[in-house]
Amino acid sequence: MTPRTLARVIPSIAASDGAGVKLRRSLGASQLQRHDPFLMLDEFFSDDPDDYLAGFPSHPHRGFETVTYMLDGHMRHEDSSGNRGDLGPGDVQWMSAARGIIHSEMPQQTEGRMRGFQLWLNLPAAEKMKPAAYRDIPSGEIPVAELAGGVKVKVIAGTLEHGGGKTAGPMQGLSTDARYLDVHLPPRAAFETGVPAGYNAFLYAYEGEAFVGPDRKQLAHRAAGLLSDGDTVRIEAGDAGARVLLLAGKPIREPIVQYGPFVMNTREEIEQAIADYQSGALTKEQVRRIKVAAPG
Ligand code: MN
Repeated sequence: MTPRTLARVIPSIAASDGAGVKLRRSLGASQLQRHDPFLMLDEFFSDDPDDYLAGFPSHPHRGFETVTYMLDGHMRHEDSSGNRGDLGPGDVQWMSAARGIIHSEMPQQTEGRMRGFQLWLNLPAAEKMKPAAYRDIPSGEIPVAELAGGVKVKVIAGTLEHGGGKTAGPMQGLSTDARYLDVHLPPRAAFETGVPAGYNAFLYAYEGEAFVGPDRKQLAHRAAGLLSDGDTVRIEAGDAGARVLLLAGKPIREPIVQYGPFVMNTREEIEQAIADYQSGALTKEQVRRIKVAAPG
């Protein structure tokens, strides 16, 4: 067994996206700050409606997946095929933009707290031009594993391995075998799990701070911590407890050319994406809505 350690920290920086939504960006703040297959991680967190009311009006994507995980507040999603969905606290939307989608993500509240994450997960070349599809995953269909020491782990994607048991999340069968865990740790509690060797993995402490690996390196609040290779990871909370996202996936190892909301392999493919967006060909095909089966 090789324990993973904290290899590199990407602090989050204040950023703004959509029509002016204030957020914290860690992964993806520059093109050198990706962690294949993960392109970007944004955290939005505000009690001030001026920070989020403008929302994310109609915009395109091609070549990757966007994963929205709401913690507080309500967001409405609408796409170019007329699909519509509401995301509330604890809900997840897993959207595979692939060949192309034009959609909007707009707050459905004028006061109170808006809080959540958007992750961008890359697709391999073979899947970048598949039809767009998305899954709305209600909170109630996302299992929570209750472990020793009061640790709770919400399993959004992939399968959590813990003390001889397994908990399967609703998102399975991705080519990157992505795992997306939301780990809640009471004060000074520890959590350990297997992560296959060779997968890229990182942590994001959105509440409190975490101490990572056998050398207990400190990962500050609201920073992404990239992990060294290995086959297990152990995190421990400080005196205030912690809430930490754990993401892991098989690296794609292909060239990336990104232009805003288009992520392809070559410059020519980016030019094609822009031309297709301008001509309307980006969204010629229907967006598929995939029903998520309750986890077994
Ligand atoms: Mn979007």
